[in-house]
Amino acid sequence: MDKILRERRERKSLKTNLIIFGPPGAGKGTYTSRLAAILKIASIATGDIFRNEIKRNTILGKKVAPWVSSGELVPDDIVVSVLEKRIKEPSSKKGFILDGYPRTVQQAKALDTMARIDAVIRLIVPEWIIIERLSNRRICSKCGAIYNLRHLKPRIEGVCDKCGCPLYQREDDKPEVIKERLKVYERQTQPLIEYYRRKIPILEVENKQIDAPPEITVEKIMGKLRKTNIIKSIEPQ
Ligand SMILES: [Zn+2]
Repeated sequence: MDKILRERRERKSLKTNLIIFGPPGAGKGTYTSRLAAILKIASIATGDIFRNEIKRNTILGKKVAPWVSSGELVPDDIVVSVLEKRIKEPSSKKGFILDGYPRTVQQAKALDTMARIDAVIRLIVPEWIIIERLSNRRICSKCGAIYNLRHLKPRIEGVCDKCGCPLYQREDDKPEVIKERLKVYERQTQPLIEYYRRKIPILEVENKQIDAPPEITVEKIMGKLRKTNIIKSIEPQ
């Protein structure tokens, strides 16, 4: 079977494989899970996989804990093997949306050997919105419930509604640290955008409204996926 025929056949398998990039605080997790639900594809967040493994104290968890807890990148070979396994699971058979992968061009190249990626979704959010959002975030010291002093206030200031324990601000969510995280994100993402720009569509979706409901952004992304014919095939005709 020649290459073109094979590619066509792969498309007929109705897979949609996407990557999402967005700065911290862009709401990436929310959009990823909503898109996955709409498109009936798996949402794969390597960060969540690692955090889960650490929580369950597995061999992999113990191995990656030092990098995850210090906020450093987990080495490529470990991330790649975790992803490869996850992509092969039955839940990914209709495709996937990757959140937090690839972080390096090396990881992107490894991914190319595992799957055909249809498009990159790139969320663009102004810095002031991100700072405003993240710096208002408060977390329960006991149960981990997340609040926001703008739109998800606890009933009593500084106290968790669910368990009554004190709320705190993550070190990561302080404005000076956020600015640094954004710089790191840009530095990591730029080479990846360059890598994909020559290969597949990059769908840029801007979000300039601080309290815009997630549906609006999800609809914008869906619109772009349709426009580029990426999701036509998996929708009922
Ligand atoms: Zn709590």
